[in-house]
Amino acid sequence: MAQSPVPLVQPDSARRGRPRDFRIESRPLWPIPAVQQQAEQEDIRQGEENASTPPLMTEALPALRVLGQARGMYIVAEGPEGVYLIDQHAAHERVLFERVRSQSQERQVEMQGLLEPQAVELLPAQMQALEAWRELLEAHGFQGEPFGERAFLLRGVPGGLRSVGPEGMFTEALNLLSQARDPAQAGDALAASIACHSAVRAGDVLSQQEMGALVRQLEAAESPHTCPHGRPTMLHLSASNLEREFGRR
Ligand SMILES: [Zn+2]
Repeated sequence: MAQSPVPLVQPDSARRGRPRDFRIESRPLWPIPAVQQQAEQEDIRQGEENASTPPLMTEALPALRVLGQARGMYIVAEGPEGVYLIDQHAAHERVLFERVRSQSQERQVEMQGLLEPQAVELLPAQMQALEAWRELLEAHGFQGEPFGERAFLLRGVPGGLRSVGPEGMFTEALNLLSQARDPAQAGDALAASIACHSAVRAGDVLSQQEMGALVRQLEAAESPHTCPHGRPTMLHLSASNLEREFGRR
């Protein structure tokens, strides 16, 4: 990335009289492997300049030890290379996305039957998406049958949804599919949407066991550094940069 290096030691004149401002969220002081997506966008803008950027998206994570939860949003963990702040929603999304994707390919997706089938009225574009992607929808746990000309009788949805009802999930899936270009992209969009609505959210208080389990699953993920939408799952405060920031070397 062609980010200008942030001066790690400020001149005394700049330091005196005001507190040190870290501004981690708006301007990272540490190199963050997870911002590959952003790096890729910059690559497009800057041509060949960044061709040597290492492929970090799929770089394996070291074994991490969970220290706790911050702001009800971030898991604080440490590994041999320093400290990690993990966005619990993004991390869970990544784990669930990969699980839904492989389960749907093997036709082993978790399905949740509705106690009462629900008649969902559909717009013409949604109806078209339903016809075009019926098989893919079934592979992801959506079950039911057409109900008249403009509705669908929904009998089952993907298991584990937390932040959306069956009808909302179904219509969102159809809206996504109505924009899909090809089967691979359609499958990814569907899996990402299901993962997003099944993942823990910011504000969910997690137990030590839950955080440990999530971190283990993230370590085992194919692309642990980004969520399926391309946002970072973690911020890495490397040991050497922490030492430098504290003036230890
Ligand atoms: Zn996401």
